Amino acid sequence: MLNERMIGLGTQRSVIRELFEFGKMRAAEVGAENVFDFSIGNPSVPAPSCVTETALNLIKTMDPVVLHGYTSAQGDANVRKTIADSLNLRFGTKYTQDNLYLTTGAAAALCCCFNGMTCPMDEFIVFAPYFPEYKVFIEGAGAKMVLIPADTEAFQIDFDKFEKAITKHTKGVIVNSPNNPSGVVYSEDTIKKLAEILKRKSEEYGNPIYLISDEPYREIVFSGTKVPFLPKYYNNTIVCYSWSKSLSLPGERLGYVLIPDEVEDSKMVYAAVAGAGRSLGYVCAPSMFQHICAACASKTADISIYETNKNILLKALREMGYHVVEPGGTFYMFPRTLEENDIAFCEKAKKYNLLIVPGTGFGCPGHTRISYCVPTERIERSLVAFEALAKEYK
Ligand code: PLP
Repeated sequence: MLNERMIGLGTQRSVIRELFEFGKMRAAEVGAENVFDFSIGNPSVPAPSCVTETALNLIKTMDPVVLHGYTSAQGDANVRKTIADSLNLRFGTKYTQDNLYLTTGAAAALCCCFNGMTCPMDEFIVFAPYFPEYKVFIEGAGAKMVLIPADTEAFQIDFDKFEKAITKHTKGVIVNSPNNPSGVVYSEDTIKKLAEILKRKSEEYGNPIYLISDEPYREIVFSGTKVPFLPKYYNNTIVCYSWSKSLSLPGERLGYVLIPDEVEDSKMVYAAVAGAGRSLGYVCAPSMFQHICAACASKTADISIYETNKNILLKALREMGYHVVEPGGTFYMFPRTLEENDIAFCEKAKKYNLLIVPGTGFGCPGHTRISYCVPTERIERSLVAFEALAKEYK
């Protein structure tokens, strides 16, 4: 006997994976340049020069036994101090190395939180549209995911539905802003209202409800959009961060959990997160990239390309009659599909070699995710395909 749940996870191909395979097949038939693959959120710009320079310097100057060796489970102490200093400079905080636990990306950071916090019957609230792996991570930790339907007008939060969903079993609430898949950034008003409800409900039930802020896109914002720093609004906030997107390093697996001192029983929460990391066999985050990410913590890849792509695509799609909420950041856009059935719509798009992901998988049917982290010329050439698709509905 094997674990049926794991067999299921290991064998069911994701919709995105299916599209990727389809794209490869079509590329062989019509040429890669004629396939408009907007399915995957893999950064399309190279890591900044700081990454290569630091890597070369580390290889030349650092004792290789240390550079490639295990670090402490929570990450190298100097690295964590450098990251804490960088956060303090940006957000006016007073974090130290003891507030940070380094992980293999945001995915592991989230898993450490869910596994470290979950007790029997616990629930985590997630807002649609959401990153589908949340369900896998939450259920893997033995908790239940409670989904709040989307506010499809603005992709902020439907507070009536949210408040009704909070129960004595609510251990935490996950927010992801800037958001995958909508690209929307939660406004300061949204965050204040969220914090007010969480404070009131925590008092009512006599237990802290943790706010888990999943922020791998924090720096990828457009025309001065401000991303509120959540620990300033709600004390029981835990931040899961990653350099996968901001430094274009998704394959290097570096991120962290930030547990501020203001979190209730913060030392215990830190211990639980570290314990979960240990029980999941994470051992330590990749040593060399701990040093690289710390040295480049204040830098980003050239994310201006994403804004250029967003502007071209948004204008063109709206002119063609698509309804799109303007993204404040990321490299995703989440238009309404031109028929109710988003799966049928995305299937139809394939006729034009347009690979876009149905919203159903993000808990938000009637929409489609476009990942526009591709070269700008490909965005420009894809517009005829979006136009031809739109014409089918006129
Ligand atoms: N959270 C969100 C919203 C994401 O979009 C992703 C990756 O696409 C992750 C977490 C996981 O990122 P990482 O590569 O840091 O594990």
